Amino acid sequence: MEIKLLQTSFNDDGSASDRQHTACFVVNGKVAFDAGSLAMAVGSDREDVRDIVLSHTHLDHIAGLPLFVDDLFSTLRSPIRVHATRPMIDALRTHIFNDVIYPDFEEIENDFGQVLEFREYEFGREFTVMDLSILPVEVNHNEPSAGFIVRDGAGSIVLTGDTADTVAIWNSAAEATRLRAVFVECAFPNGMAELASSARHLTPAGLRDEVEKLKGLDVPVYIVNIKPMFREQVIAEVKALDLPDVFIFPIGRTVSI
Ligand SMILES: [Zn+2]
Repeated sequence: MEIKLLQTSFNDDGSASDRQHTACFVVNGKVAFDAGSLAMAVGSDREDVRDIVLSHTHLDHIAGLPLFVDDLFSTLRSPIRVHATRPMIDALRTHIFNDVIYPDFEEIENDFGQVLEFREYEFGREFTVMDLSILPVEVNHNEPSAGFIVRDGAGSIVLTGDTADTVAIWNSAAEATRLRAVFVECAFPNGMAELASSARHLTPAGLRDEVEKLKGLDVPVYIVNIKPMFREQVIAEVKALDLPDVFIFPIGRTVSI
């Protein structure tokens, strides 16, 4: 499986920064998981990505979605498909594609027809997108949010999305076919445990407890979604845990898992 975590911000010299303000993975060059920087950072995959699977509707996970539809509007020969739960779809219709914040792209057609289509998924019910089987599992965040077990012919990975301490997704991970890797968020440093708890994110100390739940699975754990202001501190605290097989996932590079 090929996975790329898109860049989200710039250094002073205009080069891509490692600081991650938003979340968007592109898997196998075709399916986006979340759309934080999709319009801004997707490169040669722009012509191939037509399916976007949302974990939840916090802004850092959807910011690039309306811009992506807008960008491609005149060229789309089939609609962009957004896979989300019913409450997420309702939230996007009410708060984003509402002709105030951005046009209602469900209602505006280009020369070829519809440009945006929502497809509903349910927690616990596997669905298929392109060559991927996707099991959405509810995780522990401030609004109903999914993590995903993503499977292709080569094996499976886990994407937790945004979450605090959680259980169900690790139970699903234990049953996954040829599990290759786990991607876990770690947003805040240990000194901000209170904020992390109320925002339902992990700190390195919380991460250690989650990794403990993975014992026996014997797969690499990649850290993602580090708040940009605290990136160096979180990385230092994760390294200080000295956990084997725990790595910081690179930004802007396609990695074969
Ligand atoms: Zn969130």
